[in-house]
Amino acid sequence: MKVAFLGLGIMGRPMATNLAKAGHDVTVWNRTAGKDLEGARTAATPAEAARGAEVVWICVSDTKAVENVLFGAGGVAESLTTGMIIVDSSTIAPTATADFAERVRPQGVHYVDAPVTGSKIAAENGTLIFMVGGDEVVIDKLSPLFAAMGKKIFRMGETSKGHAAKLVMNLQIAMIYEGFAEALTLGAKLGVDAEKLLPLINASMVKSGVVEYKAPFVLKRDFSPNFPLRLMYKDLRLAREAARQARVKLPGLETVEELYEIAAEDGQGDLDYAATLTLLEKWAGVEVKGAA
Ligand code: NAP
Repeated sequence: MKVAFLGLGIMGRPMATNLAKAGHDVTVWNRTAGKDLEGARTAATPAEAARGAEVVWICVSDTKAVENVLFGAGGVAESLTTGMIIVDSSTIAPTATADFAERVRPQGVHYVDAPVTGSKIAAENGTLIFMVGGDEVVIDKLSPLFAAMGKKIFRMGETSKGHAAKLVMNLQIAMIYEGFAEALTLGAKLGVDAEKLLPLINASMVKSGVVEYKAPFVLKRDFSPNFPLRLMYKDLRLAREAARQARVKLPGLETVEELYEIAAEDGQGDLDYAATLTLLEKWAGVEVKGAA
Protein backbone atom coordinates (compact mmCIF):
# COMPACT_ATOMS: atom_id res chain seq x y z
CA MET A 1 0.00 0.00 0.00
CA LYS A 2 1.07 3.61 -0.47
CA VAL A 3 1.76 4.91 3.04
CA ALA A 4 2.92 8.24 4.46
CA PHE A 5 4.57 7.67 7.85
CA LEU A 6 4.88 10.76 10.07
CA GLY A 7 7.18 10.72 13.10
CA LEU A 8 10.43 8.77 13.31
CA GLY A 9 11.03 8.60 17.05
CA ILE A 10 11.78 5.55 19.21
CA MET A 11 8.56 3.87 18.00
CA GLY A 12 7.91 5.44 14.58
CA ARG A 13 11.29 4.63 13.05
CA PRO A 14 11.14 0.84 13.54
CA MET A 15 7.43 0.78 12.63
CA ALA A 16 8.08 2.59 9.33
CA THR A 17 11.12 0.38 8.71
CA ASN A 18 8.95 -2.74 9.06
CA LEU A 19 6.41 -1.32 6.59
CA ALA A 20 9.15 -0.64 4.04
CA LYS A 21 10.66 -4.11 4.62
CA ALA A 22 7.25 -5.67 3.97
CA GLY A 23 7.28 -4.05 0.51
CA HIS A 24 4.92 -1.13 1.09
CA ASP A 25 5.51 2.12 -0.77
CA VAL A 26 6.55 4.34 2.16
CA THR A 27 7.23 8.08 2.32
CA VAL A 28 8.41 9.37 5.70
CA TRP A 29 8.43 12.76 7.38
CA ASN A 30 9.92 13.83 10.69
CA ARG A 31 9.77 17.29 12.31
CA THR A 32 13.55 17.39 12.78
CA ALA A 33 15.08 16.78 9.37
CA GLY A 34 17.89 14.32 8.67
CA LYS A 35 16.16 11.18 9.94
CA ASP A 36 15.91 9.41 6.57
CA LEU A 37 14.95 5.76 6.42
CA GLU A 38 16.33 3.04 4.14
CA GLY A 39 13.79 1.88 1.58
CA ALA A 40 11.57 4.97 1.94
CA ARG A 41 11.32 8.42 0.37
CA THR A 42 11.61 11.48 2.61
CA ALA A 43 9.14 14.36 2.35
CA ALA A 44 9.68 17.96 3.45
CA THR A 45 6.24 18.38 5.05
CA PRO A 46 3.38 16.16 6.25
CA ALA A 47 1.30 17.50 3.34
CA GLU A 48 3.95 16.41 0.84
CA ALA A 49 4.23 12.96 2.41
CA ALA A 50 0.44 12.55 2.38
CA ARG A 51 -0.04 13.62 -1.25
CA GLY A 52 -1.43 10.60 -3.12
CA ALA A 53 -1.10 8.29 -0.09
CA GLU A 54 -3.80 5.70 0.62
CA VAL A 55 -2.89 5.70 4.31
CA VAL A 56 -1.31 8.36 6.52
CA TRP A 57 0.16 6.78 9.66
CA ILE A 58 1.13 9.07 12.55
CA CYS A 59 3.37 8.32 15.55
CA VAL A 60 4.38 11.52 17.37
CA SER A 61 4.65 12.59 21.00
CA ASP A 62 1.37 14.05 22.17
CA THR A 63 -2.00 15.62 21.35
CA LYS A 64 -0.50 18.97 20.31
CA ALA A 65 1.99 17.24 17.99
CA VAL A 66 -0.78 15.27 16.26
CA GLU A 67 -2.81 18.45 15.82
CA ASN A 68 0.23 20.21 14.29
CA VAL A 69 0.95 17.36 11.91
CA LEU A 70 -2.67 17.27 10.77
CA PHE A 71 -3.78 20.89 10.79
CA GLY A 72 -0.63 23.06 11.15
CA ALA A 73 1.17 24.78 8.29
CA GLY A 74 2.12 22.15 5.70
CA GLY A 75 -0.11 19.67 7.53
CA VAL A 76 -1.87 16.57 6.23
CA ALA A 77 -5.13 18.55 5.93
CA GLU A 78 -3.68 20.23 2.80
CA SER A 79 -3.53 16.86 0.99
CA LEU A 80 -6.73 15.09 2.03
CA THR A 81 -8.48 12.99 -0.62
CA THR A 82 -11.70 11.00 -0.50
CA GLY A 83 -11.12 7.48 0.81
CA MET A 84 -7.81 8.30 2.49
CA ILE A 85 -7.29 6.62 5.87
CA ILE A 86 -5.54 8.44 8.71
CA VAL A 87 -4.19 6.17 11.45
CA ASP A 88 -2.80 7.54 14.70
CA SER A 89 -0.48 5.35 16.77
CA SER A 90 0.52 8.16 19.14
CA THR A 91 -0.94 8.07 22.65
CA ILE A 92 -3.17 11.14 22.95
CA ALA A 93 -6.44 12.33 24.47
CA PRO A 94 -9.45 10.32 23.20
CA THR A 95 -11.56 13.50 23.10
CA ALA A 96 -9.03 15.14 20.74
CA THR A 97 -9.08 12.07 18.49
CA ALA A 98 -12.86 12.24 18.18
CA ASP A 99 -12.53 15.94 17.30
CA PHE A 100 -9.79 15.37 14.67
CA ALA A 101 -11.87 12.61 13.06
CA GLU A 102 -14.85 14.97 12.82
CA ARG A 103 -12.71 17.67 11.21
CA VAL A 104 -11.57 15.43 8.32
CA ARG A 105 -14.84 13.54 7.85
CA PRO A 106 -16.38 16.14 5.45
CA GLN A 107 -13.58 15.37 2.93
CA GLY A 108 -14.48 11.65 2.96
CA VAL A 109 -11.41 10.77 5.06
CA HIS A 110 -11.55 7.83 7.50
CA TYR A 111 -9.90 8.10 10.91
CA VAL A 112 -8.59 5.18 12.95
CA ASP A 113 -6.83 5.41 16.31
CA ALA A 114 -4.34 2.57 16.74
CA PRO A 115 -2.07 3.17 19.74
CA VAL A 116 0.38 0.42 20.60
CA THR A 117 1.74 -1.50 23.51
CA GLY A 118 5.03 -3.37 23.44
CA SER A 119 7.59 -0.56 23.52
CA LYS A 120 10.81 -0.27 21.52
CA ILE A 121 11.72 -3.97 21.35
CA ALA A 122 8.29 -5.02 20.00
CA ALA A 123 8.37 -2.13 17.52
CA GLU A 124 11.72 -3.39 16.22
CA ASN A 125 10.62 -7.05 16.12
CA GLY A 126 7.27 -6.25 14.47
CA THR A 127 5.42 -7.73 17.45
CA LEU A 128 3.46 -4.71 18.67
CA ILE A 129 -0.06 -5.06 20.01
CA PHE A 130 -2.48 -2.51 18.56
CA MET A 131 -5.68 -1.39 20.28
CA VAL A 132 -7.83 0.01 17.54
CA GLY A 133 -10.84 2.31 17.27
CA GLY A 134 -12.69 2.89 14.02
CA ASP A 135 -14.93 1.52 11.33
CA GLU A 136 -14.62 -2.29 10.98
CA VAL A 137 -14.39 -2.24 7.18
CA VAL A 138 -11.67 0.43 7.25
CA ILE A 139 -9.71 -1.51 9.87
CA ASP A 140 -9.92 -4.63 7.65
CA LYS A 141 -8.29 -2.68 4.79
CA LEU A 142 -5.34 -1.93 7.08
CA SER A 143 -4.67 -5.62 7.82
CA PRO A 144 -1.44 -5.89 5.76
CA LEU A 145 -0.01 -2.86 7.54
CA PHE A 146 -0.93 -4.11 11.00
CA ALA A 147 0.59 -7.49 10.08
CA ALA A 148 3.90 -5.85 9.10
CA MET A 149 4.25 -4.02 12.42
CA GLY A 150 2.43 -6.10 14.99
CA LYS A 151 1.39 -9.52 16.19
CA LYS A 152 -2.16 -8.76 17.30
CA ILE A 153 -4.88 -6.15 17.02
CA PHE A 154 -7.72 -5.64 19.46
CA ARG A 155 -10.82 -3.81 18.19
CA MET A 156 -12.06 -1.55 20.97
CA GLY A 157 -15.06 0.14 19.26
CA GLU A 158 -15.55 3.37 17.36
CA THR A 159 -12.83 5.96 16.68
CA SER A 160 -11.26 7.23 19.98
CA LYS A 161 -11.86 3.97 21.88
CA GLY A 162 -8.34 2.77 21.00
CA HIS A 163 -6.92 5.83 22.74
CA ALA A 164 -9.27 5.38 25.68
CA ALA A 165 -8.06 1.76 26.03
CA LYS A 166 -4.43 2.87 25.80
CA LEU A 167 -4.83 5.23 28.78
CA VAL A 168 -6.38 2.41 30.78
CA MET A 169 -3.44 0.16 29.83
CA ASN A 170 -0.69 2.65 30.72
CA LEU A 171 -2.33 3.47 34.03
CA GLN A 172 -1.84 -0.24 34.89
CA ILE A 173 1.72 -0.41 33.55
CA ALA A 174 2.80 2.59 35.64
CA MET A 175 1.14 1.22 38.77
CA ILE A 176 2.47 -2.33 38.32
CA TYR A 177 5.98 -0.95 37.80
CA GLU A 178 5.55 1.28 40.85
CA GLY A 179 4.61 -1.78 42.93
CA PHE A 180 7.74 -3.57 41.66
CA ALA A 181 9.96 -0.55 42.35
CA GLU A 182 8.57 -0.08 45.88
CA ALA A 183 9.06 -3.83 46.55
CA LEU A 184 12.69 -3.67 45.38
CA THR A 185 13.30 -0.60 47.52
CA LEU A 186 11.84 -2.08 50.69
CA GLY A 187 13.56 -5.38 49.87
CA ALA A 188 16.93 -3.60 49.67
CA LYS A 189 16.25 -1.85 52.98
CA LEU A 190 15.38 -5.19 54.61
CA GLY A 191 18.41 -6.92 53.12
CA VAL A 192 16.61 -9.01 50.44
CA ASP A 193 18.63 -9.03 47.19
CA ALA A 194 16.79 -8.17 43.97
CA GLU A 195 18.42 -11.15 42.29
CA LYS A 196 16.96 -13.46 44.93
CA LEU A 197 13.57 -11.74 44.81
CA LEU A 198 13.13 -12.04 41.05
CA PRO A 199 12.92 -15.85 40.72
CA LEU A 200 10.39 -15.78 43.60
CA ILE A 201 8.30 -13.13 41.83
CA ASN A 202 8.39 -15.06 38.57
CA ALA A 203 7.35 -18.34 40.24
CA SER A 204 4.39 -16.75 41.97
CA MET A 205 1.16 -14.95 41.06
CA VAL A 206 3.10 -11.64 41.30
CA LYS A 207 4.72 -12.49 37.94
CA SER A 208 3.91 -9.90 35.28
CA GLY A 209 4.87 -8.84 31.78
CA VAL A 210 5.90 -5.43 33.09
CA VAL A 211 8.37 -6.96 35.56
CA GLU A 212 9.65 -9.46 32.96
CA TYR A 213 10.39 -6.60 30.55
CA LYS A 214 11.85 -4.14 33.04
CA ALA A 215 13.78 -6.35 35.50
CA PRO A 216 16.82 -6.98 33.24
CA PHE A 217 17.20 -3.24 32.64
CA VAL A 218 16.77 -2.45 36.34
CA LEU A 219 19.33 -5.07 37.40
CA LYS A 220 21.84 -3.61 34.92
CA ARG A 221 20.80 -0.13 36.11
CA ASP A 222 20.24 0.74 32.45
CA PHE A 223 17.73 3.59 32.51
CA SER A 224 18.23 4.61 28.87
CA PRO A 225 14.82 5.27 27.33
CA ASN A 226 12.72 2.44 25.93
CA PHE A 227 9.67 4.40 26.99
CA PRO A 228 10.76 7.86 28.16
CA LEU A 229 9.51 8.95 31.58
CA ARG A 230 8.21 12.23 30.09
CA LEU A 231 5.84 10.23 27.83
CA MET A 232 4.56 7.99 30.65
CA TYR A 233 4.04 11.15 32.72
CA LYS A 234 2.05 12.57 29.79
CA ASP A 235 -0.09 9.41 29.70
CA LEU A 236 -0.77 9.55 33.44
CA ARG A 237 -1.89 13.17 33.05
CA LEU A 238 -4.15 12.10 30.15
CA ALA A 239 -5.61 9.28 32.25
CA ARG A 240 -6.23 11.61 35.20
CA GLU A 241 -7.90 14.16 32.93
CA ALA A 242 -10.11 11.43 31.41
CA ALA A 243 -10.98 10.28 34.95
CA ARG A 244 -11.78 13.84 36.00
CA GLN A 245 -14.10 14.30 33.01
CA ALA A 246 -15.78 10.97 33.82
CA ARG A 247 -16.06 11.92 37.52
CA VAL A 248 -14.00 8.90 38.58
CA LYS A 249 -11.74 9.08 41.65
CA LEU A 250 -8.42 7.20 41.19
CA PRO A 251 -6.24 7.88 44.25
CA GLY A 252 -3.44 5.45 43.25
CA LEU A 253 -3.08 7.18 39.90
CA GLU A 254 -2.89 10.59 41.60
CA THR A 255 -0.06 9.42 43.87
CA VAL A 256 1.93 7.80 41.07
CA GLU A 257 1.46 10.86 38.87
CA GLU A 258 2.95 12.99 41.64
CA LEU A 259 6.00 10.73 41.73
CA TYR A 260 6.45 11.24 37.97
CA GLU A 261 6.08 14.98 38.43
CA ILE A 262 8.92 15.01 40.98
CA ALA A 263 11.06 12.71 38.79
CA ALA A 264 10.54 15.02 35.79
CA GLU A 265 11.46 18.05 37.93
CA ASP A 266 14.56 16.10 39.00
CA GLY A 267 15.66 16.03 35.34
CA GLN A 268 14.75 12.39 34.63
CA GLY A 269 12.25 13.08 31.83
CA ASP A 270 14.41 11.69 29.04
CA LEU A 271 15.36 8.54 30.97
CA ASP A 272 13.15 5.46 30.92
CA TYR A 273 10.19 5.54 33.32
CA ALA A 274 11.98 2.71 35.18
CA ALA A 275 14.17 5.51 36.58
CA THR A 276 11.35 6.40 39.00
CA LEU A 277 12.95 3.64 41.11
CA THR A 278 15.91 5.95 41.80
CA LEU A 279 13.65 8.47 43.54
CA LEU A 280 12.39 5.78 45.92
CA GLU A 281 15.97 4.69 46.51
CA LYS A 282 17.01 8.26 47.27
CA TRP A 283 14.19 8.70 49.79
CA ALA A 284 14.98 5.32 51.41
CA GLY A 285 18.75 5.85 51.39
CA VAL A 286 19.42 2.52 49.61
CA GLU A 287 20.39 1.32 46.15
CA VAL A 288 18.91 -1.87 44.65
CA LYS A 289 21.88 -4.12 43.90
CA GLY A 290 22.39 -4.77 40.19
CA ALA A 291 23.56 -7.90 38.40
CA ALA A 292 27.10 -9.03 39.20
P1 NAP B 1 9.90 9.94 20.78
O1 NAP B 1 11.04 9.01 20.55
O2 NAP B 1 10.05 11.04 21.76
O3 NAP B 1 9.48 10.55 19.36
C1 NAP B 1 8.53 11.55 19.27
C2 NAP B 1 8.28 11.89 17.82
O4 NAP B 1 7.29 12.94 17.78
C3 NAP B 1 9.52 12.42 17.11
O5 NAP B 1 9.47 12.03 15.75
C4 NAP B 1 9.32 13.94 17.24
O6 NAP B 1 10.00 14.67 16.26
C5 NAP B 1 7.82 14.03 17.04
N1 NAP B 1 7.25 15.27 17.53
C6 NAP B 1 7.26 15.76 18.80
N2 NAP B 1 6.61 16.94 18.88
C7 NAP B 1 6.18 17.22 17.61
C8 NAP B 1 5.44 18.28 17.04
N3 NAP B 1 5.01 19.32 17.79
N4 NAP B 1 5.16 18.23 15.73
C9 NAP B 1 5.57 17.17 14.98
N5 NAP B 1 6.29 16.14 15.44
C10 NAP B 1 6.59 16.15 16.76
O7 NAP B 1 8.59 9.16 21.22
P2 NAP B 1 8.17 7.62 20.95
O8 NAP B 1 8.69 6.81 22.08
O9 NAP B 1 8.48 7.25 19.54
O10 NAP B 1 6.59 7.74 21.18
C11 NAP B 1 5.72 8.20 20.16
C12 NAP B 1 4.28 8.01 20.66
O11 NAP B 1 4.06 6.61 20.94
C13 NAP B 1 3.98 8.75 21.97
O12 NAP B 1 2.67 9.24 21.98
C14 NAP B 1 4.16 7.67 23.03
O13 NAP B 1 3.41 7.95 24.21
C15 NAP B 1 3.67 6.45 22.28
N6 NAP B 1 4.21 5.17 22.76
C16 NAP B 1 5.54 5.03 23.04
C17 NAP B 1 6.01 3.79 23.48
C18 NAP B 1 7.46 3.57 23.84
O14 NAP B 1 7.74 2.55 24.48
N7 NAP B 1 8.39 4.42 23.45
C19 NAP B 1 5.13 2.69 23.61
C20 NAP B 1 3.80 2.87 23.30
C21 NAP B 1 3.34 4.11 22.86
P3 NAP B 1 11.51 15.22 16.50
O15 NAP B 1 12.42 14.13 16.03
O16 NAP B 1 11.57 16.45 15.69
O17 NAP B 1 11.64 15.50 17.98
